[in-house]
Amino acid sequence: MNNCFIILAAGKSNRFNSKIPKPFVQYNGDILIKHSINKAISSKKFSKIVVAINKNHKNYLKNLQLNKVVFVNGGKTRADSAKNCLNYVRKYKPKNILIHDAARPNFSIKLIIKLLKALKFNDGAIPVIQSNDTPKLKNGKKIHNIDRKKIFFSQTPQAFKYKVIMELQNKINKETTDDSSLLISANKRIKLIKGEEKNYKITTLKDISENKVFYGIGFDVHRLVPRRKMYLGGIKIKSKLGTLGHSDGDPILHAITDAILGACRMGDIGEKFSDKSKRYKNIRSTILLSKVIKDIKSKNYDINNIDINVITETPKLKKIKKKIILSISKLCRIDKNKINLKGKTAEKLGVIGKEKAIACEVIASIKKL
Ligand code: ZN
Repeated sequence: MNNCFIILAAGKSNRFNSKIPKPFVQYNGDILIKHSINKAISSKKFSKIVVAINKNHKNYLKNLQLNKVVFVNGGKTRADSAKNCLNYVRKYKPKNILIHDAARPNFSIKLIIKLLKALKFNDGAIPVIQSNDTPKLKNGKKIHNIDRKKIFFSQTPQAFKYKVIMELQNKINKETTDDSSLLISANKRIKLIKGEEKNYKITTLKDISENKVFYGIGFDVHRLVPRRKMYLGGIKIKSKLGTLGHSDGDPILHAITDAILGACRMGDIGEKFSDKSKRYKNIRSTILLSKVIKDIKSKNYDINNIDINVITETPKLKKIKKKIILSISKLCRIDKNKINLKGKTAEKLGVIGKEKAIACEVIASIKKL
């Protein structure tokens, strides 16, 4: 086994717009660059792992604790960085080389194995995926249709016979956005391997923040009394008993509001809408929840799902469940399939069992866009 794994992480990441350089930001529980390094190590297919880094980023290497890896200075361009790494490994006389962009942390070890296998009969092997969009070609003022089936997008890692890529790197002094371009221009034998959807390139901060999911919990209880209205999930329910409260006393909406505020780390319903304030006397809880939804939307939060337990002897929820879910879906501006509602009794035990109270608990999952 004399294969080398080269990781390119020397870019300035201008499009990334973060104080920490892209290769060193946290991603799914680890530093971005380490995902690729760890996979190369775990595959046990490489005698050397070489990473091209920007010399201005050297400070970030201190705490990485990577002893199986060699870091070399990258060049001005991606092609220069690849060339520096290829020159560095020359002394090890590698047979095969994989070149990979650090910005793609989600490839599988299976892909590495497939690429190396393909090199037995080819000069290069690259993973490609097809687009779900329909491509068009603009040539001057003329627009052409292109058959989607004929369009492939290349990913990394890309695998090459060392001798072939080295020779081309030295011969051709051209800036390329991937290494296979050199082999393709030189008519070398390249095998296209099915790429992986999840192996997308992290380009902007948004690509990373999509993984930020938060959970919040909400709980509420109201006394059940005669001569009060009963609101559940924003709709008026026919019932011999109603809920006592400063507002309309809707336990479902109060627990949802608290769960959402909890997930967004924005306090609780009492802090936002005090029950000491006359402004909120008998206010509909739909208004309070709508305000919170508007607030979290402006902060780029989006609800993944809401799970609700209503614990009460009365009313029975079975018949009104669908209506309540629809009402919540409108208030929270989410699909009704993202809401689950369960009705529970207290087996006639305690205040809930004696029809003196109704309680609700909610868990909400929220992502930051
Ligand atoms: Zn309440």
